[in-house]
Amino acid sequence: MEKHTADVVVIGGGPAGAVSALVLAQQGHSVVLLEKDEFPRFHIGESLLPYMMGLFDQIGLRKTVEAQGYVPKFGGEFIDPTEKKFFEGVFRADFTKQGDGRHPSAFQVERAKFDKMLTEQAAEAGAQVLFGANVTELLMDGDRMTGVRYQREGRDHEVRSAYVIDASGRAGRIANRFGLRKTLEKLRMVAVFRHYEGLDESHNPGVEGDIQVGAHDDGWVWAIPLSKDAISVGTVMPRDVLRATTQEKAFEEFVARIPRITARLTGTRPTTDLKVETDYCYHSDTVTGPGWLMVGDAGCFGDPMFSGGVLVATTTAFRAAETVGAALADPTAEDHLFEKYSNFFKTGYDTYIRLIHAYYDGELVSVAADAARSTDRDTLEKYLVRLIGGDFWSEHNSVAQEMRRRQEWD
Ligand code: FAD
Repeated sequence: MEKHTADVVVIGGGPAGAVSALVLAQQGHSVVLLEKDEFPRFHIGESLLPYMMGLFDQIGLRKTVEAQGYVPKFGGEFIDPTEKKFFEGVFRADFTKQGDGRHPSAFQVERAKFDKMLTEQAAEAGAQVLFGANVTELLMDGDRMTGVRYQREGRDHEVRSAYVIDASGRAGRIANRFGLRKTLEKLRMVAVFRHYEGLDESHNPGVEGDIQVGAHDDGWVWAIPLSKDAISVGTVMPRDVLRATTQEKAFEEFVARIPRITARLTGTRPTTDLKVETDYCYHSDTVTGPGWLMVGDAGCFGDPMFSGGVLVATTTAFRAAETVGAALADPTAEDHLFEKYSNFFKTGYDTYIRLIHAYYDGELVSVAADAARSTDRDTLEKYLVRLIGGDFWSEHNSVAQEMRRRQEWD
C-alpha cells in the first residue's frame, strides 16, 4: 500500500470539494482531493443563484467563470395558474431588483463542464487532485479522524492528514459511517429529467436565460437553458405519484401541464434518456467531529425548487476551508472554530429548507403577506427576490425572518 501525508484530505470533487481544496491550497496548505469518477461527468444541479457571484469574488474566480460562456441568468419565472403556491399566476424574481448593489445575475451551467473547471482551478492553486480515487475507509485514531484509504487503478492507498473534509455529496461517507443522516419524510420526492437540443429562445414567452419553474397539482417542472441551443427539463413529484404511473408518462404529462414551458420547447429534440434522482432530502444534526467536517450535500440537501444546492455547497465549503485553515494555525481553537462552522452551516441550510417547506405547504404567499404588513410592496419584493437569489445567511431579510417565526420543519 502506498502511503502519503497532507494537511487536509477532501473526499469528492463536486463544487463543494473543489472549492474547499482551492481555498486551502490558496492559503498554502497541502491538500489532496480524491474524486472517485473521471471528469467530465454528468451531474444534475444546473441553475446557479446570484449570491454565487459574491462567492466567486471571494475565491478569485469571478473572471474565470465569466469567461466560460455559460448562459447568463437574470431571473427566475415562477408559474402557478392556481396562485396557491406562487403569486400572480406568473411571478418573475427579477434579480436586478435586489437593491444595494447586490449581484443582478448568475449563470446556468452544464455541470460536467463547471465541475471540471472548478477542479482545474483547485489543481492550479496547488491542490493535488486525483480522479478515479474511490475513498473506501475513514481512518480513526481513537475518536479522531486521521485520514482515509482509497483505491485507484486497482491499488490501495492511504493518506494521513490533520483534517478530513467530507464533500462526497449524497454518498455522505462520514454521515453514513456514523449513522448521522436523517431523511426528511415530508419531502420524499423524485425528479425525472432530460436534456433537449434545438432551443430557440424566441419561443420563450418569458425572459431569455431565466429558469422557469411551473407548479401543478402533482408536483412541479423546471426548464433551464444550458447554452444557446440546449435546455434541461425536469419534473419533480412525490414518490407516491410516480408509483401510480411510468417515468415516461409522468414526465410527458407533467411538462404538458405548463404551457409556458412547452412553448419554450417548440422545435426541440431530446438528446438524453430520462434520468431519475430519488431520496435527496436529508440532513444531519452533527456536521463536524474531531478531525473532520462535512460540506455541501455530504451534510444536507433539501429540494431543487429554489436552486440553492450549489450555493449552500460552495458557501459551506469556503467557510469550512477557512475554519480548517484557522484550526491548523491554532489547534487549541478547534472546538470553538468547529462550533462556529456548525452554526453557520445550519443557518444557511435552515433558511433554505424553510423556503422549500413554505412552497410545498402553500405558505409562501401568506409568509410574504405577513412580512408585507410592516413594509411596502417594493421593499417586500426586494427581500423576497434576495431570498430566492440565495440570501440564506442574512439576519435582516424580513421574509426569512417571517419564515423563521412561523415554521417548524424538523
Ligand atoms: P456533488 O456535486 O454531488 O459532488 C460529490 C462528489 O463526490 C461526486 O463527484 C462524487 O463522485 C464524489 N464521491 C462520492 N463518493 C466518493 C468516494 N467514496 N470517494 C471519492 N469521491 C466520492 N443545485 C443548484 O444549485 N441548482 C439546481 O438547479 C439544482 N438542481 C437539482 C436538481 C435535482 C433533481 C437534484 C437532486 C439536485 C439539484 N441541485 C441543484 C443540487 C445540487 O446537485 C447539489 O446540491 C450539488 O451538486 C452539491 O455539490 P457537492 O459538491 O456537495 O456534491
